[in-house]
Amino acid sequence: MKIPRVNIAHLPTRIEPLDRLSAALKGPRIYCKRDDQTGLGFGGNKTRKLEFLLAEAQQAGAKTLLSVGAIQSNHCRQVAAMAARFGFDCILVLSGSEPEIASGNLFLDKLFGAKIVWANRDNRTRILDEVFREAQVQGKMPYKIPYGGSSATGMMGYVEAMRELNSQECDFDWIITASSSGGTQSGMVLGAALTRFQGKILGISIEDHAPQLRESVTRLVQEGNALLGSKIEIAAEKIIVNDDYLGGGYGVMAAPEVEAIRLFASHEGLLLDPVYTGRAAAGMIDLIRKGFFAQNEKVLFWHTGGTPALFAEPYLSMLQQS
Ligand SMILES: *Cc1c(COP(=O)(O)O)cnc(C)c1O
Repeated sequence: MKIPRVNIAHLPTRIEPLDRLSAALKGPRIYCKRDDQTGLGFGGNKTRKLEFLLAEAQQAGAKTLLSVGAIQSNHCRQVAAMAARFGFDCILVLSGSEPEIASGNLFLDKLFGAKIVWANRDNRTRILDEVFREAQVQGKMPYKIPYGGSSATGMMGYVEAMRELNSQECDFDWIITASSSGGTQSGMVLGAALTRFQGKILGISIEDHAPQLRESVTRLVQEGNALLGSKIEIAAEKIIVNDDYLGGGYGVMAAPEVEAIRLFASHEGLLLDPVYTGRAAAGMIDLIRKGFFAQNEKVLFWHTGGTPALFAEPYLSMLQQS
């Protein structure tokens, strides 16, 4: 079955060896898959998911895209960019309070013309539902994109990304990715099975404890299987998550993230973000220092984007001080 998709991302994204970083860490050879360069509106992993979600919205006859996230949500910024590119209205429910000056992703949301509805972390999903019903009544033909774009449809972006990897180079022993709502990792896991990828996929958890993240990934794998009409058995041990790097919680940048961002920037001229890739890279660096990887292994750090948040407060000030 062919699942509808629009083509907007700059694909395939490049794979680059990080030789100077690998040498500095004296560990395995590290490579980077540049999904921070997927093109639309500063790019990131959500663009791959949105290629499928947007096609679904078009098929449903929608006119308005709705989604939800944190104030510096990269997902919502990419939804807003997609909406602008394809002629949809966009309403974003963001948790936080309206700052005096919109910076980073929030600035971009507004530039792309999205309407912002403010909420908090506990009620944002309920508010999203309310805004959705209101938009329906008003004839705005809303289409609701779930948190992080993580549905069976959205994860197809990463099933396809594994096919893309397979056509580039696939002898990596490890893929390391930031993992949060689970769509990226579940798509990779399902895509890995479909392409017989031989390496392991390690999700560094960004906000949930391991059992909860494993449950999200497992559920999405099942839903993805159902959507594809495939019956691929994924053994539980294929879903590898590490929750050692949650630190002070979601979006709380501290010394490990700052060090990782500095190391990547100063050794490779490569930018990470404060919330996701900074944390995932900090985890990878710690694992390298602990000897987790064999010296002759090839490690692919899958860069999922998020760099506009570097220019958002409080991260900008913290990075300048340290
Ligand atoms: C959303 C996001 C992730 C996590 O992806 P999930 O599919 O939600 O697990 C990782 N990195 C960045 C930069 C993101 O914006």
